[in-house]
Amino acid sequence: MTVSTALPISFGNAIGLSCRECGAHYDLGAAYACADCFGPLEVAYDFSGVRRDDITAGPTNIWRYAPLLPVPAAAAAAPNLNPGWTRLHSADRLAAELGMRKLWVKDDSGNPTHSFKDRVVAVAQGAARALGLTTLACASTGNLAHAVAAAAARAGMGSAVIIPSNLEAGKTVTTATYGGLLLAVEGTYDDVNRLCSELIGEEVTNGWGFVNVNLRPYYAEGSKSVGYEIAEQLGWRLPQQVVAPVASGSLLTKVDKSWRELADLGFVSPSDYRVFGAQATGCSPVAQAFDAGWDVVRPVKPDTIAKSLAIGNPADGPYALDAVRRTGGAVASVSDEEIVEGIRLLARTEGVFAETAGGVVVATLRALLADGRLDPDAETVILNTGDGLKTLDAVLAYGAPTAVIQPDADAVVDLLTNVP
Ligand SMILES: *Cc1c(COP(=O)(O)O)cnc(C)c1O
Ligand SMILES: [Zn+2]
Repeated sequence: MTVSTALPISFGNAIGLSCRECGAHYDLGAAYACADCFGPLEVAYDFSGVRRDDITAGPTNIWRYAPLLPVPAAAAAAPNLNPGWTRLHSADRLAAELGMRKLWVKDDSGNPTHSFKDRVVAVAQGAARALGLTTLACASTGNLAHAVAAAAARAGMGSAVIIPSNLEAGKTVTTATYGGLLLAVEGTYDDVNRLCSELIGEEVTNGWGFVNVNLRPYYAEGSKSVGYEIAEQLGWRLPQQVVAPVASGSLLTKVDKSWRELADLGFVSPSDYRVFGAQATGCSPVAQAFDAGWDVVRPVKPDTIAKSLAIGNPADGPYALDAVRRTGGAVASVSDEEIVEGIRLLARTEGVFAETAGGVVVATLRALLADGRLDPDAETVILNTGDGLKTLDAVLAYGAPTAVIQPDADAVVDLLTNVP
């Protein structure tokens, strides 16, 4: 395979990869683990030339933050789905119901494939392009599969998506429709993830970029855009509390990182905030570690309707714990019944139909308020990361019409006069 060298490889203000554990420095490339200590690699930057005006002058999508991401300034020009700049709803009715003073919902269901995964894929796709990789691949709990297949289709790249075979139709059917290779594995997400690590280096996967494995340092940085947007949409300031769903723990970790960066750059005035993590009890390894006071996260076998969060062995679990403990937050979990109630509560108070992950967040918010760990008077943002249309099964039991009637006004009059 020949790779065009007409364009210089560019990762914008990124200057290398550095090990989170030992600080060892590496050149930018498709690497994700430290050769010395096996710690995860993270993108390192030189932000010295970045000004807030550069950002506010940018497009209304993720690429307005290109100066803070490992992408070239012209990232928006390459074919991609241009995700991001999703709505931040002031959630006054939900706040009133929960007895809170001020609450917002950052609604990432508004992304092109209806979950926040479009953000991480867009950044990983840019890295794949810069590195001359021609197939976008991933291990997925569902939403990433959808986002990778769509982004690859849009850019005319190949896609190779590997999922557990028990996913919702709303994830599998959507992914298959974009074309590309879709492999369903008889096993859990953790089996799928291990399989993908084993496939890297095989002859047949030459030219593949696994967005959340060998491109993970770039992929993970895409989640910072959620935090940047919240700060900018609040008028360049930070909220006091945030509740984020936790699967691998990457999103939570990166929202925290984004706010520290903005404060360091002087784009917001530094202020204290607390980061809370939300899990389903049926897959709550990070919440269990938090409760037990452990630094390590013990793997579990997932069993929950919140399949998008069903990672039993979360790669960034320890870093999510660090962020939560450093800021004085907590990680809590909720039952499948509470998740369904959370979806319905958000829908009927705010008109936002969340997938199960959003139900986890709303239910966890409620649980944290009930046990006094979250302050009802502090300004709070919750993240809805996916669209309820992808997980209809969760609310099917409540999905019937109020009544089935004849096309006849008397029938309606009769019905409404007899409703208790
Ligand atoms: C992937 C995903 C998450 C969590 O992502 P991590 O960064 O792995 O913790 C949250 N919500 C939805 C809907 C997802 O698809
Ligand atoms: Zn290291």
